[in-house]
Amino acid sequence: MKVKVLQNIMDANDQLASRNQQLLDKSNVLALNIMSSPGAGKTSLILETIKRLKDRTRIAVVEGDIASTIDADRISKEEVPVVQINTGGQCHIDANMINNALESLPLEDIDLLLIENVGNLVCPAEFKTGAHKRVMLLSVPEGDDKPYKYPLMFTLSAAIVVNKIDMLPFSDFDMTAFQRGVNGLNPKARIFQVSCKTGEGIESWVAWLESEVKDR
Ligand code: MG
Ligand code: ZN
Repeated sequence: MKVKVLQNIMDANDQLASRNQQLLDKSNVLALNIMSSPGAGKTSLILETIKRLKDRTRIAVVEGDIASTIDADRISKEEVPVVQINTGGQCHIDANMINNALESLPLEDIDLLLIENVGNLVCPAEFKTGAHKRVMLLSVPEGDDKPYKYPLMFTLSAAIVVNKIDMLPFSDFDMTAFQRGVNGLNPKARIFQVSCKTGEGIESWVAWLESEVKDR
């Protein structure tokens, strides 16, 4: 019985997610669902991206957190449209939450929508939001074994960003082992090595993002 209930929830979510994507497509908005564990640097990556790209691309952000508006407050200083979703305990963003957020965004004036999911490596990958692509962020202190432990998120993501590479000299993180792990699951995934702190590698991530916006 329980299995059937869960199936119905997922079906309803998938339907709403495709409606969200239709809405985004109508206004020619590319949406990315950005996922990571808490503290990996999603908000920092979004801020660094906005700083470099906002003169050329119209960006908006949806911030998903269990509670607080701390991240949305940081983003709003960059003067881009931002909506905070508080999930009230739910550990992922679902399509219904994005549907509500889309209603309060000026979609016609946006080229790129960055959705920051709740920090969690498990269910954000399972729930579609309507975003066109998933991006996963992993930070060096988390370790290079994550593709083996959380394969779904790595399998579904179009791009994988390794953040905090400035910490590599003080860490056992093995980039080659990490890349091997990702390639085994998802050979097409683009891997970017960045440091939001020093700015290293951010330009090539931003260039990829910009080409994704142009290619749609
Ligand atoms: Mg954040
Ligand atoms: Zn969850």
